[in-house]
Amino acid sequence: MRLYKTWVETYEKNEEIHAEGVETRREAEGDYDGMGSTPIPPGDSQAVPKAKPKPKPKSSAPKVKTDEQLARAAVVKANANLLEISQWDYKLANASVPKVVRDAYVSSMETEGKELRDAKTAVELALSLGQSLKESTEKLESANENYRKSSGQVKKACDHSFADFLISSLGRGATSCAELQKAAHASVKEAEANKGGLSNLTRKIASLGNWGKWPQNIERDLTVLLQLPAAPLFLEIPVRSNINRKDVVMGKLPIIPPHALFHYLHVSWWLKDLNSTFPQSSGGPAWLCELRGDWKWSREAFALSTHWGAREICHLCAAKCPAHPNVQQRWTNLDREFPRRSAVNAMASCFKWPHPICGLPGFQVAQIRFCSMHIVNLGILQNLTGSLISLLFQHGFFGQGNMENHLRELSSRFRAWARVTKIEHSQGFISSGMLHMQDGYPHLTVKAWNGQVLLVFLDRCLTALVAAGAQDQEIQLAHLATRAMTCWFDRLARFPRLLSQAQGNEISNFGFRFLRLYRQLAILSVLRSVARWRLLPKVHPFRHMNEDMRHRLYNYRYCHTFKDEDNVGVCKKLAERVAKGDLMEYRIMTRFLLRVGSWVP
Ligand SMILES: [Zn+2]
Ligand SMILES: [Zn+2]
Repeated sequence: MRLYKTWVETYEKNEEIHAEGVETRREAEGDYDGMGSTPIPPGDSQAVPKAKPKPKPKSSAPKVKTDEQLARAAVVKANANLLEISQWDYKLANASVPKVVRDAYVSSMETEGKELRDAKTAVELALSLGQSLKESTEKLESANENYRKSSGQVKKACDHSFADFLISSLGRGATSCAELQKAAHASVKEAEANKGGLSNLTRKIASLGNWGKWPQNIERDLTVLLQLPAAPLFLEIPVRSNINRKDVVMGKLPIIPPHALFHYLHVSWWLKDLNSTFPQSSGGPAWLCELRGDWKWSREAFALSTHWGAREICHLCAAKCPAHPNVQQRWTNLDREFPRRSAVNAMASCFKWPHPICGLPGFQVAQIRFCSMHIVNLGILQNLTGSLISLLFQHGFFGQGNMENHLRELSSRFRAWARVTKIEHSQGFISSGMLHMQDGYPHLTVKAWNGQVLLVFLDRCLTALVAAGAQDQEIQLAHLATRAMTCWFDRLARFPRLLSQAQGNEISNFGFRFLRLYRQLAILSVLRSVARWRLLPKVHPFRHMNEDMRHRLYNYRYCHTFKDEDNVGVCKKLAERVAKGDLMEYRIMTRFLLRVGSWVP
C-alpha cells in the first residue's frame, strides 16, 4: 500500500498546486488568445524538465580517514552525547515519567557520561602529547556506541511510557510479540540492576510466556493480559482453500464490528483507567461526528433503504424517484431545496431494519455523509468530461477522423498543456476504451484527480471554441457549466475547513449555478435527441453538499474519503508482518486492536 499512500500525499500536494494553477489562469485570463488560434504542438518537448544530472563516477577505493579525522569525529559525537545527558532529567520530567523511573534512568545515563568524559580526556591527552590517537579514539568510539545503545530506552521513555511504546510499536507491526517480551525483560533486568522502578505492565509483559521460556505462548498471554478493546467476531464465508487455491471452502474470518470499536472508544474508556481525565458522563476521547464513505458503501453498511434506485433516494430529505407523480417531489427538480428529514422521520424511514449504529449516543442520520470525491470526481465529473469530449468531437475541435484519432490529439495537447502550466497529473493517453457509453451516455473513466485537471483543460478548449465565434447554444451552456465547476473545485481546494459566510455563499453559488446549467443541458439534449449530459442521481447529493456549505459552513473537502481509504494501507502493513497461516486474519485484527488499545489521546 506504499504506492497508494504516496498517491494520497501527491494528491494533497496536487490540490495546492491546482489552486495555484487556477490562480495563474485567472490572472492571465485577459491575455489568453485561445486554443484554436495557437494550438500547442503535440510533440512539444521544450518544456520538459531538464536532463538528469550525470551519475558521478564511482571512486575506485573508499576514502581512508586519517587518525586525526576519526578522533575529531568521535570527540564531536561525544560532546553531543554529553550535552544530551545533561538534559535527560528535564526531558523525562517533561514527558511526565514517574520520579523513581526518572532517577533510575538519569543515574544510569550519568554512569555512561563518566565513561565518555574519561575517554574524551584520554584523546585530548594523547593529542597534547603528540602520541598515536588510535587507541584512545577507539575507546571513545566504543563509549559513544555504548551510550547510543543504552540511551535508546530513555529516548523511548520520553515519547511514551515504555510499556505503551512497546505495545503500540507492536500494533504498528514493528516488532514481534517475542521481541516485545525480550525488550520488556531486558528493561526489567536493567531496572533491577539500577534499583529503579518500572511500571507493572512492563513487568507483566516481561513475564509473558513464562519469562520468554515458551515463546510460542507469548502472543496468547499478551492477548489475555491486555484485554483487547473489542473481541473480533468470526464470520463464515466462502474462501479458496489453502491447499490448492482452487476449491472453495467455508472459512472463518474475523471482523471487528464498528459499533463495538466505537463502544470501546466512546463509552468504556473511563473504565480502563479510573484516573482518566475524562469524566464518566462525557464518555471516552472519541465522539461520533460523521460517518464517511461512498454512497454504495453507506447503503450497505448501514442498511439504508434510501438509495439512488429506491422510491425515496435520500436519507437527508424525502426526495422521490423520477417515477413519482408529483414533479415537485422528484429529485430531478434541482431548483428546489428539499426540507431535511426530522430525526424521528429519518430513523423511521431510512433503515431497512434497526441498525446497531442507531443506538449509539449522539447518532443522527445526517452524520452519514456523502463523500465529495465519490459524488463529484467519480460521478458527475466523469459524465461531464465524457459529454464535453463528445461535444468537441462533434465540432471537430481536435481535427477530423474517428474518435480514436480525436482522443489521441486531445491527449497530446492536454499533456503538453499540463507540462507548460506545470500541473501534475498521472493521465496517460486517453483511449476510446476509457470513453464508454453508460446507458447510452458518454462517460469518461479517469482517476479522481486527473479528471479535475482534465476539466480545466476542457474549459480552455471551450473558451477557444467560443472565442472563435461558436454560436451554438449547447456550446455556450457547456462553457458556462464547465467554468462553474472548475471554480467550484478551485474554491473547495482553497477554502479552509470552516468557511466564513462569504466563502460558503461563494462556493455554493458556483455549485448551484453548475446544477442549473447542467439541467438546461440535459433538457437541450432531450430536445435535440443527442445523448449527452446525463442527469444521474448523484446531482442530488451534490445539491445537498452546497446547501450544507452555505448553511453549516463546513468545507466538504474535509469529509471526503481519501484518508479513510488509506486505512487499508495500515492493515496491509500489519498483514506483511504477522506470521502467515490459518489465523493470519485474526492476528492482523489482534494487532490492530492492540494499537487501538494502546492509544492515549
Ligand atoms: Zn472508493
Ligand atoms: Zn436529499
